[in-house]
Amino acid sequence: MAGLIERFSHRLPVSPETPVISLEEGSTPLIPAPALSQTIGEDRQVYLKFEGLNPTGSFKDRGMTVAVSKAMEEGSRGLICASTGNTSASAAAYAARAGVPCWVVLPAGKVATGKLAQAIIHGARVIPIDGNFDIALQRVIEISNSEGITLVNSVNPYRIEGQKTVSFEIIDELGHAPDSHFLPVGNAGNITAAWRGYSEELESNRIPIPPRMMGCQAAGSAPIVSGSVVENPETIATAIRIGNPASWQGALQAVEQSNGTILAVEDEEILAAYHHLASREGVFCEPASAASVAGLLKRFHAGLEICPAGGTIVCTLTGNGLKDPDLAVAGTILPDPVDADLDSLRKAMDLS
Ligand SMILES: *Cc1c(COP(=O)(O)O)cnc(C)c1O
Repeated sequence: MAGLIERFSHRLPVSPETPVISLEEGSTPLIPAPALSQTIGEDRQVYLKFEGLNPTGSFKDRGMTVAVSKAMEEGSRGLICASTGNTSASAAAYAARAGVPCWVVLPAGKVATGKLAQAIIHGARVIPIDGNFDIALQRVIEISNSEGITLVNSVNPYRIEGQKTVSFEIIDELGHAPDSHFLPVGNAGNITAAWRGYSEELESNRIPIPPRMMGCQAAGSAPIVSGSVVENPETIATAIRIGNPASWQGALQAVEQSNGTILAVEDEEILAAYHHLASREGVFCEPASAASVAGLLKRFHAGLEICPAGGTIVCTLTGNGLKDPDLAVAGTILPDPVDADLDSLRKAMDLS
């Protein structure tokens, strides 16, 4: 399957002159979730848009292919970002592909090497600075302006453009728009982008009505829900641990125009959804990704409107479970060995 730019060139800000830097991102599976559908009942069908199967393991690749292709078209010297997570991993991979350097600037002391391993293996240059995250972001903005290096943090407008393609794929696959679309919200770029995709489909009469956009923030970092910046955001779902979302207005617009909502889910609810997805649906996602399913289940159990009977619900799973091995490993208890004879094995297997 071709990459996004090839497949959706007429709907993206590219021209035949744009050099395409692609890792064949997108075309991720829309996986039916029978166990969830059964829980929700009333013949409603739940699907998982598994963005963890993008080349670097998250939806960030959709935006990155467009951002990096445009950067190369504009003669950029390289890429820069302030990110510890999936943005840096994606930027590093696309920089490697484009043959340009990638710098990742971060607050010293707050750098978890595990999370950066992916960026480093793709050859990104990680620079810890003495300063907090806001200063790191400020510096990368300044350097990108003065040095002809492309900033690929979520403020890069091409990222939203690339990310909107997820909605095109969902509509293509279902043959119609879902009734509700649940997704995790951190910087809120993804909900802004998905809504832009649906809005464009609406404008060109490819769908009669768009889905309700249901954004899910972690309770410990839910500025859009509370209406004020969170100074010290906390949640196990690190990819959405954001106290002052860059695309706050975009998220508000998405929920207002689609008659949707932004809700908060507790870490326990996120973890329950994370385990449910892995053990019942066979889909292993990042903790942050499970916020979408946690939000769906929370509204269902609270008796709130989720989707009409017989309708369709899509939950975006933003990243791959292998991104956060520490959490998965922390819950792993290896049992004591048993004798090697068949009877002992049968007993250990609970077959007797
Ligand atoms: C970036 C990211 C998010 C948050 O997306 P926003 O566009 O910042 O709202 C959620 N989950 C994962 C896995 C991510 O990488």
